[in-house]
Amino acid sequence: MKNIIITGGSRGIGKCLVENFAKEGHNVILNYNKSEKQAKQIKANLEEQGIKIEIVKADISKREDVKKLIKFATKKMKNIDVLINNAGIAKLQMFQDVTEEDWDEIMNTNLKSIYYTIQEVMPNMINQKSGCIINISSMWGIVGASCEAVYAASKAGMDAITKSLAKEFGPSHIRVNSIAPGVINTEMNSVLDEKIKEELKKDTPLERIGEPIDIYRCAKWLIEDEFTTGQVISINGGYVI
Ligand code: NAP
Repeated sequence: MKNIIITGGSRGIGKCLVENFAKEGHNVILNYNKSEKQAKQIKANLEEQGIKIEIVKADISKREDVKKLIKFATKKMKNIDVLINNAGIAKLQMFQDVTEEDWDEIMNTNLKSIYYTIQEVMPNMINQKSGCIINISSMWGIVGASCEAVYAASKAGMDAITKSLAKEFGPSHIRVNSIAPGVINTEMNSVLDEKIKEELKKDTPLERIGEPIDIYRCAKWLIEDEFTTGQVISINGGYVI
């Protein structure tokens, strides 16, 4: 049984990770920011099944909020075994239209946040001489994305941090990996119309769009594994090979 923190656990991929890891018997802390109602509903639904989780509001783009989140987690769990940096935002816009506010919001939420979360959990993981950090990046960080340059840059940055910290933290037996999802069926892709989704399916060798459970299966494997670090694992149905 592991002690797991999942950022952005109120919706989409994060919600699926929270529910499945909790059902497996792990101790889970769900972090959310705006979706309080959804976070409380997830907790209540699990409680009906006799499963207890903790939910913590924190804007992960703010150092003080992250400090409070990790302080709460270490008090509750003592040891933090797994940190899943999942929270993220995307914005579809032409590069010329990107304002400094857009740039900062995307970079701070997707990239600066993991500088905060990882720095805050490190003392705990170093103490234990073990740990598993999973960064949910994106295939767009690998191949680039038209009208999502800032998002792609933030995700490429996450992968660079993954590789660097795998080298830096390896001697402390802390593994750091990225999961780079392809197109996954969540609210984040509600901007895509049916025609675009059909085209995406056609261009995907496995002929479907991904589901959050596809990401969970990879995360579960990464948590159980003991000899994988510094890797960016693409879960995209073969869309990018
Ligand atoms: P989603 O359905 O839009 O959910 C995003 C989650 O991130 C929500 O739980 C949200 O919480 C949380 N979040 C956003 N800003 C936050 C902040 N400042 N502090 C704390 N939490 C925050 O997105 P998703 O599709 O599940 O995406 C999850 C991750 O996978 C993201 O990092 C995304 O970039 C990545 N990804 C997704 C896809 C895809 O196709 N869906 C593909 C590649 C990568 P609140 O609502 O509570 O604020």
